Amino acid sequence: MVPFPGKPFLDVTDQMVRQGYNVTRMFRVAEEFFTSLGLKEMPTEFWEKSMLVKPADREVVCHASAWDFYNRKDFRIKQCTTVTMEQLFTVHHEMGHIQYYLQYKDQPVDYRHGANPGFHEAIGDVMSLSVSTPKHLREINLLDSLTYDNGNNQIPSH
Ligand SMILES: [Zn+2]
Repeated sequence: MVPFPGKPFLDVTDQMVRQGYNVTRMFRVAEEFFTSLGLKEMPTEFWEKSMLVKPADREVVCHASAWDFYNRKDFRIKQCTTVTMEQLFTVHHEMGHIQYYLQYKDQPVDYRHGANPGFHEAIGDVMSLSVSTPKHLREINLLDSLTYDNGNNQIPSH
């Protein structure tokens, strides 16, 4: 499963902590990436009603999930988010579900689901995969420097 054995594993968690990342910022970074590709912003209700951190006063199921309330404006994520790179990717995955909900929200109810469940899972993962590249991590200032296999630290031109 390791695409490039012997290459160092990249983890920018320490850098996120150093830069004072919090959960809201992680979701804003994900949203910015989606909108930079011409996709939709998260609606106001999303920010007001989602559960983005584990509540202190009650038991919750922490497995991350995304919800469509089928009223064309209420879409939420439930995630016990912590500040790690892995969780940043999960944020993108879950936001991919919300993005899909937003894109088909004005269809009749019968059409408000993915072409198949795999499509739903894929939207956010496409984003996560792009975000997890060293090039993108450097663009969002989470990676100071990187060295390419051609020995320099420039982005190869191809
Ligand atoms: Zn999913």
